[in-house]
Order: sequence, then structure tokens, then C-alpha cells
Amino acid sequence: DAVLEMRHIARHYREGDARLDILVDVNLLIYPGETVALVAPSGAGKSTLLHIAGLLERQDGGEVLIQNAPTSRMSDSDRTRLRRATIGFIYQFHHLLPEFSALENVALPQMINGLSWREARERAKQLLDYLRLSARVSHRPSELSGGEQQRVAIARAVANAPYLLLADEPTGNLDPRTAEHVFGALMSLARTSGLAALIATHNLDIAKQMDRRVTLRDGRIEEMD
Ligand code: ADP
Ligand code: ADP
Repeated sequence: DAVLEMRHIARHYREGDARLDILVDVNLLIYPGETVALVAPSGAGKSTLLHIAGLLERQDGGEVLIQNAPTSRMSDSDRTRLRRATIGFIYQFHHLLPEFSALENVALPQMINGLSWREARERAKQLLDYLRLSARVSHRPSELSGGEQQRVAIARAVANAPYLLLADEPTGNLDPRTAEHVFGALMSLARTSGLAALIATHNLDIAKQMDRRVTLRDGRIEEMD
């Protein structure tokens, strides 16, 4: 069964009198363990699609199913609960909490999901260790390099053992070498944990390492190569 299904998703914005049809008829299926690159120019609607897939924003038409569960009629609080239990997010800029350590940034979302500090800290340590950040657990985000900040953000995104990882230009802010490292860490985590991932990227080298590539054209999804 699909982890994520987008069925006939439509979304428009208004700009004064003008109507911008950003997503017209988006259909997309992602299965467990599948990694999918979303490659499209700026303004094509990638962020909008990811926000809708991640239940952060509501579509105007169509249905988003998370593990076969339709979400459009759910209340905001039910959508939030489902999102926290099933979906991890990574952004271009890490959005880590500046006054907390790397370890705390990874542990906090798990505590919000009901784990004890002790359990959350253990899992956070394991993840940071896996991402080769053992020597950085006590550092605050401002004391970490860009690549390290983004690896902490990856650890935080997967800490709650989601089924689906959504990433919006996760390496867009990094130099090519660091981008390659961070992406490698992301892929090995996804593969070892059987996580499905939808990753918006401009980086074709990165897109080529994923299972499938799709693009957005005139508000519709098209498969590439
Ligand atoms: P991408 O991520 O591919 O660059 P976005 O989804 O961010 O594309 O944006 C698609 C288009 O929708 C852009 O032209 C953007 O300006 C517009 N847009 C995005 N969000 C809003 C909003 N809240 N209100 C009005 N227009 C928006
Ligand atoms: P990367 O190649 O991963 O981007 P950098 O060359 O930027 O790494 O940083 C090298 C090392 O310096 C990293 O281990 C990082 O933790 C440390 N570092 C970078 N910026 C700071 C800072 N503002 N305060 C303390 N340590 C820093």
C-alpha cells in the first residue's frame, strides 16, 4: 500500500484580481521505502505540493491519503496528530531551535510525542552517532557548520520514526561537497529504516541517485526519464 497518495490535488492562490493555478491536477503515489526526487524550476509549486502532502496546508480540491487514510475531512488537530506520527520534514534552512543543543533539538520532538527524556535522549544520541555527530551533541546550532546543522535537522526529522520524509531543497544552502555528504547520510538513513522520501531538489546529481524522478509541469506531475 502507498505511504502517500495525492489524488487530483488542486491549489490556487489569489494575487489581487489574478488567480494563480499552481497545482491543477496532481496525482502521485509513493510506496514504502521509495525515494522520489521532485525536480522543477522555482515557482513551479514544489513547496506548495510538499506542504499539502505534509498536511501543513489544505488543498482546494482532491484528496491526500496517508497510509490509505483520507485526510481532507480531518480536523486540524487530527491532521497535526497524524503528521507528528507519520511524517518528518527537512527544510532548506534547518529551523533548529537556537537556544538548544543538537541533542535537545533531536530529543524534543520525541518528548512532544510522549517519550520520556531518557528514551528520547538515547534515540537522539544513536541518531547523531549514526550521522557522525557524536562530538557535537552539546553544541548549539550556531556552533555547527552548515553541513552539521543540516545533519542535525535530518536526525530531528527521523527521530519520531516517520514513514514518510518530505524535504524541500535540503541541500540547497550547502556547497557541492557538503551537499553530497548530507544527501548520502539522508539516503542511507532512508534505506536502513525503509523510509519513503519525497525530496524537492535542483541538484540533478542528487536526483539521479533516487529511485524515481518526477517534475511539475503546468500544475501536473510528470514522470522523468
Ligand atoms: P517552488 O517551491 O517550486 O518554488 P512554490 O510552491 O513556493 O514553488 O510557489 C509556487 C507559486 O505560488 C509561486 O509563484 C509563489 O509566488 C506562489 N505562492 C506560493 N505561496 C503563496 C501564497 N501563500 N500566496 C500567494 N502566492 C503564493
Ligand atoms: P563542513 O565541511 O562540515 O561544512 P566547516 O569547514 O564549516 O565544516 O567547519 C569545520 C568544523 O568547525 C566543524 O566541525 C564545525 O563544528 C566547526 N565550526 C564551524 N563553525 C563553528 C562555530 N561558529 N563555532 C564553533 N565551531 C564551529
